[in-house]
Amino acid sequence: MKLHNNTTIDDDLVRRLITKAGRAAGARTNGVVVFVNQGSGYRSSGVAHRCDMVRIYNGKRSRRASRGRWNRTDGGYFVIRMPRTAIDGTGNPFPDPVDQATNFFRVAVHEFAHIRDYQSIRAGERLDWSRKINGRRPAHSVRPEEERAFATVAECCDHGDAETRACHEIVDLAIALEEKARA
Ligand SMILES: [Zn+2]
Repeated sequence: MKLHNNTTIDDDLVRRLITKAGRAAGARTNGVVVFVNQGSGYRSSGVAHRCDMVRIYNGKRSRRASRGRWNRTDGGYFVIRMPRTAIDGTGNPFPDPVDQATNFFRVAVHEFAHIRDYQSIRAGERLDWSRKINGRRPAHSVRPEEERAFATVAECCDHGDAETRACHEIVDLAIALEEKARA
């Protein structure tokens, strides 16, 4: 994985957690470009893009032709935001950092499910995809590609043991989030 960790959380921890998410989703992780950015919200969010090359400047995707270098990627890249933990009036972390770390892992599985699909398309597989109707795509939740990604998270996290396999990393991330909140 070509990890660009733009947070203060340890690179190795972030890499191990996201790699486990990619394997759970059935994606090849090695050549995929991943940007981890610090979000300002309490929950993680992500967005995946299909492409063969991405231009990178200062660890972030560059939209300017004059800035950055082209990097090859395997299927696409995704951006995922690290949540922010706060300390409440009683001195406890809020929200629960374990819930936040688990949610981060699930968002990574979701985005890697999209990357897995992009890798499959590139290999010639035909997948059902949303089409624009009158110039607009259907609502996010009813797009076939989103339904596949939701199903992947449900299969490997709700009914599978992906979270159990990533348990150490999830707990380590939870501790890191709390430490950061107290710093
Ligand atoms: Zn999605």
